[in-house]
Amino acid sequence: MLQNNLIQVEQNIEEACRRAGRDRSEVTLIAVSKTKPVETLQEAYDLGVRVFGENKVQEMADKYEVLPKDIRWHLIGHLQRNKVKYIIDKAVLIHSVDSLRLAQTIEKEAKKHNLTAHILIEVNVAREESKFGIFPEDLEALVDEIAKLPHIQVDGLMTIAPFVPDPEENRPVFRELRKLSVDISAKKVDNVNMSVLSMGMTNDYQVAIEEGATMVRVGTGIFGARNYAQV
Ligand SMILES: *Cc1c(COP(=O)(O)O)cnc(C)c1O
Repeated sequence: MLQNNLIQVEQNIEEACRRAGRDRSEVTLIAVSKTKPVETLQEAYDLGVRVFGENKVQEMADKYEVLPKDIRWHLIGHLQRNKVKYIIDKAVLIHSVDSLRLAQTIEKEAKKHNLTAHILIEVNVAREESKFGIFPEDLEALVDEIAKLPHIQVDGLMTIAPFVPDPEENRPVFRELRKLSVDISAKKVDNVNMSVLSMGMTNDYQVAIEEGATMVRVGTGIFGARNYAQV
């Protein structure tokens, strides 16, 4: 099951890359393992998966402790400031920074650990009320402020597109995020590069890749539905 899913997702990624004239190596697949037990993650690991995404701090920290140390953990969910300390030295990339206050807390914890925290800015491109992320018009100002924090490296942008029946509906959302990243890139701000575009989930990662995604976050497509018991 898991193996077949991985093969299918990999094939879909390759085809989307081909359609877009992109090299497969430009796209990182993040296996979103939230709610899944460590045995399932270990199984994915044994099949070659090394990049996992979690949306809860405690769950990521727990899994980090027991699973192999060469896993690259991405924190993709909303991050509360009082929890930054638990993942600052565990997450290779925090996808969900959407305020200066959160960035300042990350700066403080990164400094304590003498490391540079790599982050993405989460943009609420589709302006969904239920979602975190800043609005596009506030992005530039936030980037400029975060860029001043010496222990933070901004690597790019992230968005969570709406859940839609037809993934084509999200194409303009992905296009908009890409455009924002090009605009910021052009400004050449210190400590800021726009090499990462984290966009696309199970429902729409192929369209996201066609629109320039460099990281896709796929959960259900790899591990199956989360509502049901999973072996
Ligand atoms: C759960 C989650 C995903 C994966 O969703 P699927 O639809 O299962 O692929 C991707 N990104 C974020 C931020 C998530 O919380």
